[in-house]
Amino acid sequence: MTAGSRRIAHLDMDAFYASVELLRYPELRGQAVVIGGGRAAAPETLPDGSRRFARLRDYAGRGVVTTSTYEARALGVFSAMGMMKAAQLAPDAVLLPTDFDSYRHYSRLFKTAVAAFTAQIEDRGIDEIYIDLTEIAGASPDIAARIKRAVHAATGLTCSICVAPNKLLAKIGSELDKPDGLTLLTPADIPLRIWPLSVRKVNGIGPKASEKLAGLGILTVGDLAAADAGLLQTHFGRSYSGWLVEAAQGRDDRPVVVSSEPKSMSRETTFERDLHPKGDRPALSAAFTALCVRLADDLRRKGYVGQTIGLKLRFDDFRTVTRDVTLLAPIGDAAGIRHAATECLKRIPLTRRLRLLGVRASSLTRADEAHAGHRPVQGELSFAPGAGDADGADGAGDAGEAGHADGAGDAVLPGDPD
Ligand SMILES: [Mg+2]
Repeated sequence: MTAGSRRIAHLDMDAFYASVELLRYPELRGQAVVIGGGRAAAPETLPDGSRRFARLRDYAGRGVVTTSTYEARALGVFSAMGMMKAAQLAPDAVLLPTDFDSYRHYSRLFKTAVAAFTAQIEDRGIDEIYIDLTEIAGASPDIAARIKRAVHAATGLTCSICVAPNKLLAKIGSELDKPDGLTLLTPADIPLRIWPLSVRKVNGIGPKASEKLAGLGILTVGDLAAADAGLLQTHFGRSYSGWLVEAAQGRDDRPVVVSSEPKSMSRETTFERDLHPKGDRPALSAAFTALCVRLADDLRRKGYVGQTIGLKLRFDDFRTVTRDVTLLAPIGDAAGIRHAATECLKRIPLTRRLRLLGVRASSLTRADEAHAGHRPVQGELSFAPGAGDADGADGAGDAGEAGHADGAGDAVLPGDPD
């Protein structure tokens, strides 16, 4: 397939965190709202059922703004700004705590809604995805409109979509008609719609590169398209300048990379001092429970349940032992995880002090796809003989790892994050 025949959509949720908060607190619509407080900023429900919100002027601390509504942005309050500074600019703005659990929940909802159209989805983080529409029957505007409606039906939130021949243009285009945008870009639109834009609008041209380009008098994508290739190569090197030339012409052959599901999630902890299996039993037990609670929390937040639960121990001589157990049905609750992991623990002779303890859930499935009728019963254990018993196996580098992480940016080239 030639690059020219592709139809790539970029879908970006509109002011995502703020919009999720406004769903919950519709009375705040139209107000300057700043998200970034800790739990202390949670609104108080009054006896008459109304809510009293914290105000930015009452904030004291060193936190930064996570995001703000358009009304707050009009007052000069933007994400990453110190809250104390924001409070000077917008003392009357409503302050809300950041609630990533809710944002992840809505993120799953909108991605699941899009997945009903196609599996050709690349996850770009909590509020954006690429979708390859090439194989979907129908006209691009119709498909995009249907996807927008499905996202709204699933979440109550609006998104902006651009359909373009590639990811580069689709990403730029989804910003052009926000909010609730539906944008189509073809190569013929590049001079009129892309070239007037600042080079910063191109994903992959970060602050450093744009500053350098500005030094050369190159401010817009059109300036870049007209720039001398030799000059660019002198200042940016062969590889990046070559990419800049292609980007300015709206050319990009990167495929949509379908995101893979996480294989496992785990939590582990290395003790401050090596713990004795008997002498330090209360401390070990508490750490064990805490790990299971955190793992259950990870699973819940990401929307998974696991059918195989594993335990990992490292002794004071650095010998590592793992055991796992496969259950009759997947689970996600802390008590169930602890129960299964305890069964694993019983199969390990505890002859030495312990240096590290870890729990893992694998054979993951989406919690919403697990059959409701297969609710796990504690004690419903069926041991998978041998397979998981691997002395010395060392699952390195997953301390505190919570499996599938939300993608951060979308830098095209390493070293120039946007
Ligand atoms: Mg967004």
